[in-house]
Amino acid sequence: MKTLKDFNFKNKKALVRVDFNVPLDAEFNVTDATRIQAAKPTIDAILADGGSVILMSHLGRPKGKEEKYSLKHIVPKVSEILGKEVKFAADCRGEIAQDAANNLQAGEILLLENLRFYAEEEAGDVEFAEELAWLGDIYVNDAFGTAHRAHASTTIIAQFFPDAKCFGKLLAAEIESLNKVLKDSKKPVTAVLGGSKVSSKITVIENILDKIDNLIIGGGMTFTFIKAQGGKIGDSICEDDKQELALEILKIAKEKGVKVLLPVDVVAANAFSKDAETQVVPVNEIPDGWQGLDAGPKSLAEIKKVILESKTILWNGPLGVFEMEKFANGTIELGNYISEATQNGAFSLVGGGDSVAAVKQFNLENQMSYVSTGGGAMLEMLEGKSLPGIAAILD
Ligand code: AMP
Repeated sequence: MKTLKDFNFKNKKALVRVDFNVPLDAEFNVTDATRIQAAKPTIDAILADGGSVILMSHLGRPKGKEEKYSLKHIVPKVSEILGKEVKFAADCRGEIAQDAANNLQAGEILLLENLRFYAEEEAGDVEFAEELAWLGDIYVNDAFGTAHRAHASTTIIAQFFPDAKCFGKLLAAEIESLNKVLKDSKKPVTAVLGGSKVSSKITVIENILDKIDNLIIGGGMTFTFIKAQGGKIGDSICEDDKQELALEILKIAKEKGVKVLLPVDVVAANAFSKDAETQVVPVNEIPDGWQGLDAGPKSLAEIKKVILESKTILWNGPLGVFEMEKFANGTIELGNYISEATQNGAFSLVGGGDSVAAVKQFNLENQMSYVSTGGGAMLEMLEGKSLPGIAAILD
């Protein structure tokens, strides 16, 4: 796996694909700069090595050249975070981009205009990718959020750098952290899968069953399993057409010697509302008119025991409707257990969608070994898929 360390960037132009798809307010101020922060170590390392940096990214989903999606809006923020002037090329291809790249000196940073101003980007157009490739000497992919897309700048471009392509620090860290969970993991390995639906997690479960010792199932997908086992789930969320699949998963897990932990009790509510009445009931005896919206205390006690015994922990999906305070306790507690296990030496990876939001909301981000930045990309890696953006560098 080639990384920045494998290259000498002195007097070289690094063409770096970053994910600067950041949220902007009505005045075009960046409201969350996490993704820019995340790219800083890569940019700093290349500059420190004596190179220059050409940054390319997409922003939003423009239809052609739409001013409001111009990356010029984020130049001040990028500059502030990097602590350096950032030049801007008002086009990512053609004369404007080439002149700007040609004039770039060692130690300087250039940001190219939105790649998605050209449909060729998402189409994975080879000629467009080649035009981008002319701009730099070494191609660096540091955009995990788009690594599962075979776009021109994330994948196709790599073929024009057969001996000069590598992962940036962020992308390398994402891959390494996932390998620590799925490949070189310390046992026991525990996966916590929550969230709303079985259907969106099924491929993940199937792929990881070979690699884990414990599977903790929580959140809304619990009830498809419980109903399939003959339990009464009241009005809880359930995918009836996935019941057989749920039983099949339990069977396969048993065959593989994976211990499955389903909730034994839940916090049930008489409405899907922050003001609902609540009661704790056994998970398989939820009265009609009530729905399970969070893990109950007995379930949490069991989860805590398993988590604290684990050496490797993967967490994907909340244990309850954490967006409402009344149903956030299970998710917060789980975060605390993982935090404790991590302090005791376990490796913990949080990734793939809403659990990252939960971890941030409850200030648990720094308590985890690694919090992934790419929702969809992380899920696809957990599903065992080869991501085109990663494969293109490994080729
Ligand atoms: P996902 O995107 O599949 O990870 O699902 C995350 C969503 O699942 C969050 O918005 C939670 O509010 C929701 N969720 C978690 N537990 C439940 C539950 N028991 N009933 C309904 N929704 C839930």
